[in-house]
Amino acid sequence: MIDFQSVLTAINEAASNEKERGEIADYIPELAKVDVNNFGIHLIDSQQNDYAAGDSNELFSIQSISKVLTLSMALSLIGENVWERVDVEPSGDPFNHLSLLELENGIPRNPLINPGAIVITDILVSKLENPKEDFLTYVRDIAGDNTIDYDETVALSEKKTGFRNFAAANLLKSYGNLNNEVDVVLDFYFHQCSLAMNCAQLTHIFYVFMNHGKCRRNKSYLTLSQVKRINAIMLTCGFYDEAGEFAFEVGLPGKSGVGGGIVALLPNKFCVATWSPGLNAKGNSKLGMLALEKLTTDTELSIF
Ligand code: GLN
Repeated sequence: MIDFQSVLTAINEAASNEKERGEIADYIPELAKVDVNNFGIHLIDSQQNDYAAGDSNELFSIQSISKVLTLSMALSLIGENVWERVDVEPSGDPFNHLSLLELENGIPRNPLINPGAIVITDILVSKLENPKEDFLTYVRDIAGDNTIDYDETVALSEKKTGFRNFAAANLLKSYGNLNNEVDVVLDFYFHQCSLAMNCAQLTHIFYVFMNHGKCRRNKSYLTLSQVKRINAIMLTCGFYDEAGEFAFEVGLPGKSGVGGGIVALLPNKFCVATWSPGLNAKGNSKLGMLALEKLTTDTELSIF
């Protein structure tokens, strides 16, 4: 039996001694206010035992991690039709890049880069009565936690500076791959990105992807095939142009966000989330990557 608590405690100690902590994302002004010295880690195993260390109960902006949750909701609403509007190949490009979108006639490479996530958001806007409320209810329901909420200040902050996302949405519209108004879709997109969660809450949600589509209360949200697809996309596309490096160093499907969060999982075994707001040059949490590399090395647990 692996002593996850000792492993997490050691990871937290190593992180607190780390001097090079990366750079905080400041293109969304509100995110720049966070203290770079935060570090938290939380792990839930398949028996629903929780282990934690550091600032694992501090709320942070989950940003792009939300893209997995909107994809999950879209898949459960329209199934395989999702793939008519977005592809499933890694982009090898930064999350906000637009050149491939133009080359490939408005079909985004995958649902975990910004243009792909914006298409998924558009699907939800078409399908849901009250997109923001309904998506929040979906997330709260999976988590079994009604305290989860959007951070309106972060959403507004991104709306004011989200020029590249406006460009992406307009480009999608010009190719006929955005059915709703740009402003409406992006308002929802900025809100989904602004969801505030702590490491514990993230693992409690992503538990569904390690547990055959069933949440901690055993309620089913996804088919086995849908879970396979989501985990495959996280593995190949979850870290932008660093997905190869993450598979190489850590060896788990996962997803990062520019708020400094990373969530990753080993099917049937555990789900783990880290938070450290300093990012590396590719926009992924610097200490989060190191922590997860240490976790899978020390425990000898990875999908490989
Ligand atoms: N809201 C951010 C954006 O669209 C999300 C990016 C990220 O977390 N990588 O730019």
